[in-house]
Amino acid sequence: MLFRDVGRRRQGVAVSLAEKPPALVGGVFPRVPPQLRHLPLNSRGYPVPWFAVHPERVTVLDPAKRRRAIAERLCWICGRPLGHRLLCFVLGPAQAVTRVVQEPPSHPGCAWFAAKTCPFMLTADYRPSDIDPAEHRLHNPGCFVVWRTDAYAVDGEGRVLIGPPETVTWFHQGRAATRTEVLDALEVYRPHLDVAHIEQLMPWLPRW
Ligand SMILES: [Zn+2]
Repeated sequence: MLFRDVGRRRQGVAVSLAEKPPALVGGVFPRVPPQLRHLPLNSRGYPVPWFAVHPERVTVLDPAKRRRAIAERLCWICGRPLGHRLLCFVLGPAQAVTRVVQEPPSHPGCAWFAAKTCPFMLTADYRPSDIDPAEHRLHNPGCFVVWRTDAYAVDGEGRVLIGPPETVTWFHQGRAATRTEVLDALEVYRPHLDVAHIEQLMPWLPRW
């Protein structure tokens, strides 16, 4: 239930990304992968993800693009055919626990680029004005994961069910997350999630 609430809010909130510059890895914007170079750039020079409704509000997802991505097996970030055996999901900690999301998978290169550069994921202290400060960390806990798998399915309600991972890579503000940072982020969701499901994620946390 928590995940669904967060997902709905993220699809509906107009987030201005122009207010805070993101902290980039080493201060250098990573090289844009070839498959993302056809995307338009927003006012700050960022490639606008294929799924975004508005170039300056990339947390507002396009429901028509979502339907196309699932039906035509297109990358959620670049919009091009997937074609890979191993696919990637960029998830928040709660999604890594439930493994039920709204967003379809992406190319590995597209997912890694997003995890390292997406302003929403890099600016954990940015809070959209209509979100209560007490709930802010539920929407942006500061940690995200690139979940690489060869298995996913879409259920009758249109939810994407993610299979077990081949690899799991945690990020905190664009760099590798520490175990403590991931545990802190998971703690935010502990009252809302099945503890047994959280325990299943433990082997996939950073070792240090
Ligand atoms: Zn892609």
